[in-house]
Amino acid sequence: MTPDFTRPCVKDLEAYKVVPPDYNIIVNANENPFDFPDALKKELNDTILDMSLNRYPDPSATALREQLSDYTGIDADQIICGCGSDEIMSMLNQTFINPGDVVISHAPSFSMYQIWSVIGGADFVWVPDTEDLTPDVENIINTAKRTNAKMIYLCSPNNPTGSLLPRHDVADILEETNALVVLDEAYIEFKKEGDLTEIVNEYNNVIVLRTLSKAFGLAGIRCGYAVGPKPLIDMMYKVKSPYNLNKLTQAAAVIALKHRDTLLENVTILNSERQRLYEFLKGLKGITRVYPTASNFIYFEVPDGAPLYAALLDEGILVKYLKHDVSDDVDHIRLTVGSPEENDAVIKVLKRSLS
Ligand code: PMP
Repeated sequence: MTPDFTRPCVKDLEAYKVVPPDYNIIVNANENPFDFPDALKKELNDTILDMSLNRYPDPSATALREQLSDYTGIDADQIICGCGSDEIMSMLNQTFINPGDVVISHAPSFSMYQIWSVIGGADFVWVPDTEDLTPDVENIINTAKRTNAKMIYLCSPNNPTGSLLPRHDVADILEETNALVVLDEAYIEFKKEGDLTEIVNEYNNVIVLRTLSKAFGLAGIRCGYAVGPKPLIDMMYKVKSPYNLNKLTQAAAVIALKHRDTLLENVTILNSERQRLYEFLKGLKGITRVYPTASNFIYFEVPDGAPLYAALLDEGILVKYLKHDVSDDVDHIRLTVGSPEENDAVIKVLKRSLS
């Protein structure tokens, strides 16, 4: 028998599951339906031909951070890059969380906040949203005070609900708690009114997470980044594994940022498709609630999601089915906005199943 080496907090975890991608239409993971354009793949190809792959990559991703600085308006030395923002969360954990510390977030939100915290030995607390599925700011503040929380994850636009946290709410949480606030803006480019990233130059207890996986359509290259006050980012560099971001990722990300105006044109298409889907869903009898969204996905409530999920799967369409995600008596579906053709196919099945 294998000796029992595993830490107790890891033993009880379930490994992160992903559904195998053998579906015609994949609208379950909030990916961008538009691939990196061929012209940019060719540019990447040429860059790779000039690369010495026998040598390690730049450990601090200097060229990439300069591009990110130009994009976000934040100094390059206030930025750290990771293998997706998932890796950044792991670094946050290793840098700031001791076993027994309390980490909180609003529910429902991104499951990895809890998973990383539990792996770090923290006590994790979900603070339920208000009835309209927006973060309950007062309860977040009270819970943080009561538990002396070390870290608070806020997600805006939030996965899976699409809700936004206005700046004054984030500021209240920053001012009224002693916690390090991590504001996850993975989907921020889909919000029409801009980001809150500059808040890191106003407060000393906030870090903002961003990624190239969503609006930039580069989930496959794994590139996320954190932006924050320099003293906090400097501490994160101490735990970063030396060559975490490989040369191919760094090169692809630099090309993407140089051509950001072209790539982000897709956001305009996706936001107009989001509006089309939203209005369609609102008009369907079988859907009991559709939540407003500032992201590239829509969260809606159905009394029983199982038959709808099965009908979609029958047509090769994969959505995220969240059985009893919020309450015990209803189900929720999170639908990623796809290409116009993909959305037409989804609409067809939903019409047939729910009207
Ligand atoms: N934050 C949120 C809210 C997400 O939904 C995701 C991915 N689904 C991530 C972070 C992780 O993104 P990545 O690791 O691809 O940067």
